[in-house]
Amino acid sequence: MDQPAILLLELFDGRSARPQPVQAWVKAGTLQLRNAEGQVLSYPLRRVRWPERQRHGQRQAQLPDGGVLSGDDARAWDQWARASGLRESLLVRWMQSWRRVAVAMALLVATTLAIGVWGIPLASDALVAVLPPQAEQMIGERALAGIDARWLKPSTLPPARREAITADFAALLRTSPGTTPDYRLHFRSADKSVGPNALALPGGHIVLTDALAQLLSDQPDALAGVLAHELGHVQRQHGMRMVVQASLLASLNGLIIGDFSAVLVSVPTLLGQQAYSRDFEREADAYARDMLRAAGRSPTAMLVFFERIEAYKKDHAMSSLPIALASHPANEERKRFFGAAP
Ligand SMILES: [Zn+2]
Repeated sequence: MDQPAILLLELFDGRSARPQPVQAWVKAGTLQLRNAEGQVLSYPLRRVRWPERQRHGQRQAQLPDGGVLSGDDARAWDQWARASGLRESLLVRWMQSWRRVAVAMALLVATTLAIGVWGIPLASDALVAVLPPQAEQMIGERALAGIDARWLKPSTLPPARREAITADFAALLRTSPGTTPDYRLHFRSADKSVGPNALALPGGHIVLTDALAQLLSDQPDALAGVLAHELGHVQRQHGMRMVVQASLLASLNGLIIGDFSAVLVSVPTLLGQQAYSRDFEREADAYARDMLRAAGRSPTAMLVFFERIEAYKKDHAMSSLPIALASHPANEERKRFFGAAP
C-alpha cells in the first residue's frame, strides 16, 4: 500500500451534537482522522470496534474515546476497508473472539475430564478459585445461621474473658510471617454433646464454644493454637472446598444449572461435621504450628489440648464429639507433629 486510501466520514465526538467531517485512513496499525482544522487524531486499530451491520446500509466504527465514526455510503466504506487492509483485521478479530469461545469450551471439557481423571477434589479446587468472594460470604453466613439454630446458643462467658481471648489471638497474628485472612471470632455456648469445640466456616467465621475456652482457661498457647488451626482452614478455604466437593458429588447439575438452593440446605450439616480430609487437617495443623513458633510460643501446648479433649470424652462416655474440631481424632500422628516441635 503506497498511499493510504482516504475516506470522507462524519465524526460524532460525543461532546457536540453535530457531527464534524473528517478524513479517515489507516496507517501502521492505527486509524487516523483529520478534522476540518487540520488536527490529526490517531487510534490503535485493535481498540476500534467495527459493528458488523448498521441500519440503512450505514457503516459505523466506535472509537476508544467514545466517539463514533459514521459513513452513509456503505459501498465506499467497504472498498476503503478492503484497500486499507481492515478486512483482514476484522477476520483476525473474529478469530480471536472465536478463540475465546473455544477456550471456554476447552475449559469445560477439561473440568469434566479432570473430574474423571483426578477426581472431585482437584476439579472443585479449580472451581473454588474462580467463585466470587460474595458466594463464599453468603454460604458462610447461611452456614453460621444454620449451625446456630441447630447446636449453639449465645455465649455466657464474661465479656472481659471474651475480649482477652480475642486480643490474645490478634496478638498471635501480629507476629505471623505471612498475611492472614480476614476472620470473625464468634463465642457460643452449646450443650454437652457439642462440648469443648471450635470450627471454621467459609467467609472467615470461626466459632469457639464456652466449654473449650473453659477447658483451656489456663492454657492460652493451646487456645491460640486451636484458633490458629481454625484460621488455617479459613486461609486454605477448606470449608468452601468441602462444600463444592460435596456439591459436585451430590449433583454436578446443581452447580452448573444453578439449583444451588438445594445444595445450600445441607451446608450447615456438612460444615458442622467438619469432616475434613487428613490433608486439610495436616495443612491446618502446620499453619497453627508455624503461627505459634513465629510468636515464640510453644506448639507443644497443643498436646494439653489433645489430652483434655480425650479426658472430656471419657468423662462423658462419648466415643467422639459430633461436630467440629473435637471430632478430629487426636491421633498419634498429630501428637507427634506438635510434640516434636521445639
Ligand atoms: Zn481442623
